[in-house]
Order: sequence, then structure tokens, then C-alpha cells
Amino acid sequence: MIKKIELLLPEVINQIAAGEVLENPASAVKELVENSIDAEALRIAVEIKSGGHQLICVEDDGIGMNREDAVHCLQRHATSKLRQTDDLLTLTTMGFRGEALAAIASVSQLEIQTFNGQESTCVKVDTGRIVSIGPCARNRGTTIDIRSLFQNVPARQKFQKSAASSGAQVLRVLQTIALAHPNIAFSLQSQGRCVFQSESCLDWRVRAKEILGPLSFEVVQVLDSYAVHGLIGAPEEAKGNRSGQYMFLNQRPIFSPLISRAVKDGYATRLNEAKYPSFLLFLTLPPDEFDINVHPQKRDARFQNESKVYRLVERSISKMFESMTPQNFASPLQFSDPMPLPWDVQMERPLNLQCKQEGDIRQKESQPSFILPSVSRKAIALIGSFALFEGDYFSLLDLKGAEARIFFEEAEEKDSEKETLSWPIEIELSLEEAKTGEELSQSLKKVGVEARFLGGRMLAVDAAPRGLDESEVSDFVARFKIERKAAAAISRFCRSRKKKYSLEEAALIEQRLAKCKDKNYDPLGRMIAREIREEQLGQWITGDEDS
Ligand code: ADP
Ligand code: MG
Repeated sequence: MIKKIELLLPEVINQIAAGEVLENPASAVKELVENSIDAEALRIAVEIKSGGHQLICVEDDGIGMNREDAVHCLQRHATSKLRQTDDLLTLTTMGFRGEALAAIASVSQLEIQTFNGQESTCVKVDTGRIVSIGPCARNRGTTIDIRSLFQNVPARQKFQKSAASSGAQVLRVLQTIALAHPNIAFSLQSQGRCVFQSESCLDWRVRAKEILGPLSFEVVQVLDSYAVHGLIGAPEEAKGNRSGQYMFLNQRPIFSPLISRAVKDGYATRLNEAKYPSFLLFLTLPPDEFDINVHPQKRDARFQNESKVYRLVERSISKMFESMTPQNFASPLQFSDPMPLPWDVQMERPLNLQCKQEGDIRQKESQPSFILPSVSRKAIALIGSFALFEGDYFSLLDLKGAEARIFFEEAEEKDSEKETLSWPIEIELSLEEAKTGEELSQSLKKVGVEARFLGGRMLAVDAAPRGLDESEVSDFVARFKIERKAAAAISRFCRSRKKKYSLEEAALIEQRLAKCKDKNYDPLGRMIAREIREEQLGQWITGDEDS
């Protein structure tokens, strides 16, 4: 049956909006806390019960509201932050849509207590209807108390998570916001217990360390009026999911697949394909170069110049790794320290970041690079496929991993040196493989193997890369057929080789590694060299910190 068109009642509109803005208690907390930040609060205390389903209370010491605004703010599209559409281009506040409070109020029991230094107001609302307005006693600031969220939205209620996981979401949301606002003190109580507390501080790194623990490397990059700064984790600490990834655009938490990809590309082959690096990145862009208003929760961003954003982020990370020397790679014993950082080297133009606290991030003088000319570094011992080098310090080099890196980088060069084989090696493909024989020969070229698909099931190899002995060609092709990707094929092939090394060979490998762009990782992102200190050996053998 077709019904007559009617305008929706404001209550219904608010409830629909609630469906967009409010997914769960955590999204309500996000809206309320962002309002407190916009109100210039320096202290924000959040309290929840049953993961926020029973109670969410956000208290701030911000500018408060007068009586009129305290009532007004409950109406849809009531905002003090936006007047004209042009303002949308220059907004610096967190909120601007003016729909969060109205939406939350329409699906809960809400109470606002606010004092702006002159008048105090208490407004009580029952699922969207104001039930009382009066004065209250409190210091300057605003407290918003929400009970029984989604009480009148059974559909939403049905899909809510358990109190524990919804509490965990609230914590994540609050900590994410806290990362971008180190100057504000935050706390979270759940069931009367303090679960998170962070005092205000001047240095974003201090806040980051408190919340995320130590992240190894600091990055910073400027490209015209675009800038990025932050911290990234060591490749070997990458996770199996995105839980360690935090990105912000002008202090707003966002998720952008573009940035994710730029980060991953920045790690390049240092990172295992299946892993997600941990990072904390703050992008600063001119407000008119992006649009944050594409998602009701302002989580997505649309960039005017995507390729510039990509380059900025990718470069910040790749440059950091390129400028790194193995001594920046701390051994596991040092990981608990704040990591040293080539801050100066990275800086192209001074960035007015928040001021640094002394002693937080140590600046290290530039270090000698790991691979010194062989005159000063000598291979002095072999332990299987590991070589011990002596120079200004001792280091252990994983020769198989090093060969993989050399092979990988040499193969990538366009006109890499190849050894023409004395006689083409013929390789028989399976019927299945033969279907893509032409493609196989093309992708083999990319790893330095000159191969021709002869039709039928035959492949002929005419030349092999320098890293490959004639007798190894068919084994390598077999491995490549399984892996299909250069990094994995080369890495696994080199590591599976049964090889005995001599000291001379080790020295040669070290010299060739010295010419590589990335001397510290195999193509799959595993570390291949470590500095060794005598004290560490003592500790390792005795298991005692004092030795
Ligand atoms: P928006 O943040 O998009 O403006 P909201 O619905 O979240 O919309 O808030 C509506 C208005 O209520 C805000 O513009 C602001 O003027 C006022 N407000 C909300 N929370 C606070 C607070 N904690 N302190 C002071 N004013 C607030
Ligand atoms: Mg808001």
C-alpha cells in the first residue's frame, strides 16, 4: 500500500541521526569528549557503567554554556561552531554538524549541568523531551550525564556488545583522542575503578609513550604546506592486525586507506607482507585541502591532493629507514629506552611542533654506518652461516639473509649484471603452469632470470643473476613458481641453500651488502645484522643483569 508523504517528526529525525552518529557507547563518548575539547577544557573526566550502556558521564572544566544555549544545544543542527557553508572550509573545531547532542538525547535519559561563570543551568531530558530546567551548583564547565542509552531503540540495543568489549571500545576512543591532545588531562572510570588517567603534558611523545608504550622511530616530513610527524614501530614488531595504527588529520582521529598504504609502502620490503606496522602519525594540512564531512562520525577524510598526501607519508617513512644505521637499531635489550632518532637529519624546515621535554627523546650524534670498508672491518669468525665482524665494535651478520638482500637489490636494477649460461637450461612446466608460461617468463625477468617460454611445456633460461650459480637455476625457478613474489622467492631460496661459507666469502658478502640501499633487513623484513657488546654476552650467558 502506498502511503501519503509526510514530513518526519523532529523526534524521528533525531533518532535516525542517532543511528548514523551513534553506533555504540564509544561513539557517544567520542562526541561528548570532542565537545569538551571544543569548549577549551583542560581536564576531562569520563565515567561509565556497564561499558556505557547503563551510564556515560563526561565532565569538563571548559567554558560552559548560558541557559539559553544549554536548552538550544539539544536541538538538531544547533551548533555554536558553524554559521555559513564557507566556514566548513576553515573549521578547526572537532564538532560542527550540531547533531550529536540532539541525537544522543533522543535515545536516552540525559542531564546537562553547566556553569559559564555567570549562570548555572541544569536541563533534564527524557528520550528527546525536556522535562525540567533549573539552576545547579557547580564550578565552571559542563557535565553531561547519559543513562540507558538506546533504551527506546530495541533494534540498536540488540546489536550491542557485552559491557566488557564496549568498555574496551570506550577506552580506545578516549585514548585515541588523548594522543592528539597532550595538553589536556584525561581520566576514565569504569564501574567506579580508574582504568586510565593521563596528566597534561607539553610533549606529545610523553603522552604517546604512556598510551602506546615505546614506538621505535620518530618521523617528520614537510612538503610545502603539508606536514606529518609521529612515531613508527620497528618492522619486526608489526602486528597481525591494525590495532597498533593511529592516524590524525589536524588533530582529528581518522582512518584513511590511502595513508595506510603509504605507510606500508614506506616500509617497503622491510616489512613482512602479511603484517601491519604500528604507527602514530599526525598530519597537518591546510583546512581547505581536505574534507572531513564525508562521514557522520567524521572518521573519513577526502583529500584534494591525494598523491601529495601519499608522497608525504611514504617519504617520511622511507627516508627515516634510509638514514638509519644499525646502531639506531637497538638490540632487544635497549628497546625499553626512548629510541634515538635522526631528528636533525629528517628536518627539512623547522616545524613548530609542541616543545620537546628534555631527556625524553635522546638525540644521538650521527653514528658510523654499520658497514665500513673492509680495511677497518674484518670477518674474524664463522658460526654456521653467521659471521662475526670486528671493527670499532663487534657485529654479527646473517650471511644468508645478506645474500638475499644483495640478490634482491641487484635483481631490481634495470641493467643488472647477468651471467649468460654456457648452455640454456630447459625447465619443464606442469600443464597448469604452462598455461601462464609467458607471464612466468616475464616475471622471472624482474628477478634477473632471462627466460623464454618455448611453448608447449618448456621454459628456457639463458642468463641468471649474479647471485645465482648455474647449478642453482632450476631450484630457484622452482621456488619462484611457488612464491611468485620476488621478495619471498629470493629470501626463501637463499635461506634454504645448503652452503658452507669461508671468511673470505663473508668479507665479500659484507662488501656487496655495503652497496645495498637497505643493509639491515632481508627482503622479507627480517633483521640481518646486530651489534654485539661484551656486556650483552655476559648477561646472555649468565642470565644476570649485573654481569
Ligand atoms: P557540534 O559539536 O557539532 O556543534 P553538538 O550537538 O555536539 O554539535 O553540540 C551542540 C552545541 O552544544 C555545541 O556547538 C556547543 O555550543 C554546545 N556544547 C556541547 N557540549 C558542550 C560542552 N561540553 N561545553 C560547552 N558547550 C557545549
Ligand atoms: Mg559535537
